[in-house]
Amino acid sequence: MDGGWCTPSAILSYPILQNTNKHYHSKMKNIVIFGAPGAGKGTQSDYIVEKFGLTHISTGDLLRKEIADRTPLGLRIKDIMDAGQLVSDDIVVEMIDNAIARDTKGILFDGFPRNVAQAEILDQLLAKHGRSLTCMIRLDVPREELIRRMLERAKISGRSDDNEETIKNRLVEYENKTLPVSAYYNKQGKEIKINGLGDIARISQDIAKAIESL
Ligand code: AMP
Repeated sequence: MDGGWCTPSAILSYPILQNTNKHYHSKMKNIVIFGAPGAGKGTQSDYIVEKFGLTHISTGDLLRKEIADRTPLGLRIKDIMDAGQLVSDDIVVEMIDNAIARDTKGILFDGFPRNVAQAEILDQLLAKHGRSLTCMIRLDVPREELIRRMLERAKISGRSDDNEETIKNRLVEYENKTLPVSAYYNKQGKEIKINGLGDIARISQDIAKAIESL
């Protein structure tokens, strides 16, 4: 099944990247929260959007809504998501483009970018809307703890991709396709690593301090 990779020349041909906006929002924060499934991105996202007044864009939430609403897109992506695989880049890129166009506060991106092609596209989309990425917050959690947390969540989440088989696939997708995004932002000097193990409030404080020190 298509894992959502695309080549650099394919990226440049995305029509939505063609316009450029000359107004530059230098003070607006646009942040990526990054980490494996189960790293605590959702929990810390709630804290960050509240603390810094940002708009929360979770591609996973947007995709699950399409499925819940039984839209044509939802029907197309259900099996892919249930298998723990990534949906194609075009689908999420269009969602992100629309979200950036609507937003006036600054955005916390949660679950996006999921591969290097998406990271490159995000830089171009932000530039098109006169913005740039402030930083990427990476939550580090050991693999055994990720699995433990996801199995725990599976008992209550009702998510069809929270089961043992799919959890394994999601971790493999993360390691193969998403982890290289970390090096992409590291090279740009935008990666901030946070210990995602331990007290939730302590992790939130570490994140806040890191963002405030920028
Ligand atoms: P999440 O809620 O972020 O764990 O995402 C749940 C599922 O939605 C993933 O396993 C993918 O199938 C899909 N998904 C979410 N975000 C993306 C993305 N940026 N690119 C491709 N697929 C995604």
